[in-house]
Amino acid sequence: MALLIRNAALLLPDRVIARGWLRVRGRFIAALGEGDAPPPDPEEIVLESRALLVLPGLVNAHTHLEQTFMRGYAGGKPLLVWLQRYIWKLQAAMDAEDVRLATWLGLLDAVRGGATTIIDHHKVPFSRQHTESVLKAATQLGVRLVLARAWADVGTGAESPTVILDDLRWLFAEWHGAAEGRIQIANGPLAPWRCSAETLQRTTALARAHGAITHCHMNETQHEVALTLRATGLRPVAWFARLGVLGHDFHAVHGVWLDDEEIALLRRHSAQVTHCPAANATLASGIAPVARLLREGVRVGLGSDGPASNDTQDLLESIRWAAYLQRAHTLDPEALPPREAVRLALQRPDGSEAALRPGAPADLTLVDLQRAHIQPVHDPLAALVYCARNSDVWGVIVDGRVILRAGRFVDVDEDALLAECRARAQHLARRAGLLDS
Ligand SMILES: [Zn+2]
Repeated sequence: MALLIRNAALLLPDRVIARGWLRVRGRFIAALGEGDAPPPDPEEIVLESRALLVLPGLVNAHTHLEQTFMRGYAGGKPLLVWLQRYIWKLQAAMDAEDVRLATWLGLLDAVRGGATTIIDHHKVPFSRQHTESVLKAATQLGVRLVLARAWADVGTGAESPTVILDDLRWLFAEWHGAAEGRIQIANGPLAPWRCSAETLQRTTALARAHGAITHCHMNETQHEVALTLRATGLRPVAWFARLGVLGHDFHAVHGVWLDDEEIALLRRHSAQVTHCPAANATLASGIAPVARLLREGVRVGLGSDGPASNDTQDLLESIRWAAYLQRAHTLDPEALPPREAVRLALQRPDGSEAALRPGAPADLTLVDLQRAHIQPVHDPLAALVYCARNSDVWGVIVDGRVILRAGRFVDVDEDALLAECRARAQHLARRAGLLDS
């Protein structure tokens, strides 16, 4: 596809161009510059609006898309109560069609929130049909999706290691690198206290053989840390380091309750902590020490987490949560400045940072700053972090293809899909025993 975006502000790694242009050829950024755009080529699509800010496509580094039908159940319940009374029951009742529609709804919400890449910690691996419904939805919409195949082989919901490994092998063979590389597979242990040492090691080795990441909830609550400590004699990150699971290809999701040794281990192994500030606040889990992690050289990504624990996939909102919570946590008004807050949402699954530069993948989020709740704009970065929300996302381009333009999905009948999802979600709640009849 040939695209020209003009009369727009551009968020570069080191500065903001107040008025510039950007050209896409095929799947990549071909050129960008300051001031007047070169004349458009005859075949080129020209995108412009009143006051666009172009940024690299945001990376939602942790969610559970199937939870989109589980919005609104989390308020005022401890993590394990919430899981046992609501989430696990709903997950158990989901058929492949529920997963398909919940995924579509979650994907639309995520894209409207500016995401072009999504790591889905897929928790409903009851059948390959369930899993493929997620992969097909992402392929059809055209987003980048990393499906981290969730698993537990200890306690509630445990699967046999043979099933887990067979399923991962099938996913790597059939789907890893599909859709011109937009689909990736990852190893997704659910939490240290739900996994055996041997299966952690075997699945991590399998992922590494395919150049894939391992993505696991870690140190989300104090209670969870205590469970691992009791079972292994080690805190979760220390236990994973002992097992050889930590590495540049490891994502520790949450990392709320980390001690000094664990932070040092994460840095030494170049692992990523994925911060989910809204979910941690919703479930009263705590506030991850993000400012300290960054100061000490730990890579930090950003996730919305699933709609069951955050309700929205709006990553712009998560950026704002991250900025505010670090200040409240540290009592330091400079704890997470706007550029650092945005950088959290630019950490790609492989550990690289998304950036606007020639040769980079054409994954772009276009935000309209000409809004009553944003103007006047003194600093586009501050406007993005403190004022913008998902309804301001004007356009989304993934791999050179326009998915959202002027606030509307190009290839999706959104109204029809929403009506279908409403009916289906109610039907699911009834089957799970959460409604009377
Ligand atoms: Zn999660």
